[in-house]
Amino acid sequence: MLPFKLIYCDAYDLNLGEHVFPSLKYRMIHDRLLAQGIAAPDDFLAPEPASDEDVLRVHSREYVHKLKTGTLSPEEIVLLEVPYSKELMEAAWLAAGGSILAGRCALQDGWAANIGGGFHHAYPDHGEGFCMLHDVAIAIRRLQSDKRIERAMVVDTDVHQGNGTAAIFGGDGGVFTLSIHQERNYPHPKPPSTIDINLPDGTGDEDYLAILEKHLHRAFQDFAPQILFYVAGADPYREDQLGGLGLTIEGLARRDALVFDYAKRNGVPAAMTLAGGYARKVDDTVQIHVGTILAMRDAAQSTVADLKTR
Ligand SMILES: [Zn+2]
Repeated sequence: MLPFKLIYCDAYDLNLGEHVFPSLKYRMIHDRLLAQGIAAPDDFLAPEPASDEDVLRVHSREYVHKLKTGTLSPEEIVLLEVPYSKELMEAAWLAAGGSILAGRCALQDGWAANIGGGFHHAYPDHGEGFCMLHDVAIAIRRLQSDKRIERAMVVDTDVHQGNGTAAIFGGDGGVFTLSIHQERNYPHPKPPSTIDINLPDGTGDEDYLAILEKHLHRAFQDFAPQILFYVAGADPYREDQLGGLGLTIEGLARRDALVFDYAKRNGVPAAMTLAGGYARKVDDTVQIHVGTILAMRDAAQSTVADLKTR
């Protein structure tokens, strides 16, 4: 039994078949958490789809209409990089509802994980890079609208810069965005986050962790969020097909622990989402994502005093 909730439903699987996006990973993570006794069935909550009102706090009315009526142009579907379908659209609304629920659970329990979401390349008026709706932005706007929070921080460690996040929250003093990513990779251009850490190709564990820690320190010095959304991409892994960084599976687990340490030390509830992961072996992607859940469990079970002695 975990000390926090996991948000998941089978419809997160987009059934993309041989696509480089291994959408079956969601189900595999769910199954592995149960098979390894890390989670019990009671730890899982099923999300409701986000309401259109929720979605429209972030996305334009015209774009939402195109998604709901299946009237994206061929160019818009090319930019999305996944074939449009009604199931894909429904999965996007569910992932957004899942991140809203993860945010609420984190505010209640201190921690929560959406076994989905992290669609950080979605812009208000278009989708791209496998991302149709920006679930994390939708969750932040909903929590703000409900007056549950005023200030949020997004820490994004996916190998690809969080361009949608940066575009949505640019100039918004209520949301601090930090993205650590490979510089010479999609997306182009990269609109500015509050902090962008542009890494050279092949950056390995030690260099990565040192620079991430330095910037987390600065971020929490400059800003006092009431919730942290962690976009925990598995694609900085050295065996990733769409990434060019050099992290090991152990290094990625240390990265997760570092992010959760900062949340805990600063008394900030943390909600995580999965984001990307395209390892040559899908099993590695699943292991990395399960590792993030384990890091959250360790952080939830430790005390602040434990962290300070590390
Ligand atoms: Zn990515």
